[in-house]
Amino acid sequence: MRPLVLEAGAEPVSSWPHYYDSLTLFSPARYSALPGLPFPGDPEHYPHRDEVVDYLRSYAAPLDTDIRTGHRVAKVAHDNGFRVTTDDGTDFAAPIVIAATGGFGRPHRPALPGLDDFPGTVLHAAQYRSPEPFHDQRVILVGAGNSAVQIAAELADHAQVTLATRKQVKFSAQRPFGRPALLARPHRPGPPPDRPVAARRLHHPGPGHRPLPIRTRPAPSGPPTDVHRAGRL
Ligand SMILES: Cc1cc2nc3c(=O)[nH]c(=O)nc-3n(C[C@H](O)[C@H](O)[C@H](O)COP(=O)(O)OP(=O)(O)OC[C@H]3O[C@@H](n4cnc5c(N)ncnc54)[C@H](O)[C@@H]3O)c2cc1C
Repeated sequence: MRPLVLEAGAEPVSSWPHYYDSLTLFSPARYSALPGLPFPGDPEHYPHRDEVVDYLRSYAAPLDTDIRTGHRVAKVAHDNGFRVTTDDGTDFAAPIVIAATGGFGRPHRPALPGLDDFPGTVLHAAQYRSPEPFHDQRVILVGAGNSAVQIAAELADHAQVTLATRKQVKFSAQRPFGRPALLARPHRPGPPPDRPVAARRLHHPGPGHRPLPIRTRPAPSGPPTDVHRAGRL
C-alpha cells in the first residue's frame, strides 16, 4: 500500500513552523526522533523549533509516500469506501482514511464570562510569537500546560506575568540528577523501533521548565481559579 498524504500547508512539517519563535523541545533530541532517522546533533540537546522543522522536512523527503501539499481536506464522505474532497473540489477515493489534523489549526477559545467587555488584548497561545510586543505590560496566562508555562517564563523577562491555573503548579527540574526528566518517571517501554510510527508512544517529560526563582501563593479567592505569582512570574 502506498499512502496518500493530503497536507493543507506548504510543506509536510506539521504545525511546527507556526509555534512561537523561541520554542525548544522539552524532550532531548535522542527521544524526539522518529523511527529510522536519528535527530541530528548532540543527542542530549533540546532542539529548537526550526531544527524540528528541518528534521521533519528531511524525514518526509525520502519516504515512499505520495505527499500532496497545499491540499486542505474539506469533506470526507462514505462512497464505497471513502471520498475525500479538498477545498478546491478535487476528489480522492480511499478504503481507509486517517485524520491526523492535530489541534493547533483550530485553537479552542473558551467563552469566559465578561470577555466581550474586556478592554485589553486577548490572544490564544497559538497566536503568540515572541515577548517583545508585551514589554512592560501586565499579562495573565490562563492555564498551566507546556505552552502557558514556557510562554510565561519567557514573558517574565519583559512583562509583569501572572499564571492563572485551577491547581497549584508543580514545577520540576528539566534534568533531575543530570538526566532528562522523562527518565526519572516510571513508564512502560514503548514498542520496538521497527514498529510503525503510529503505533509508537511518545513519552513526554512533563511541563517545560526554566530555572526561575519561583515562589507561589494561593489565590485570594477560591474557584474558579487559583492565581500563582512568583517574583516577576
Ligand atoms: C508549545 C508546544 C511545545 C511542544 N513541545 C513538544 C516536545 O518537546 N516534544 C514533543 O514530542 N512534542 C511537543 N509538542 C507537541 C507536538 O507539537 C504535537 O504533539 C505534534 O506536533 C502533533 O502532531 P500532529 O501531527 O498530531 O498535529 P499537527 O502538528 O498539528 O499537524 C497537523 C497537520 O495537519 C494539517 N491539517 C490540518 N487540517 C487539515 C485539513 N483539513 N486538510 C489537510 N491538512 C490539514 C496541518 O497543516 C498540519 O500540518 C509541543 C507542542 C506545543 C504546542
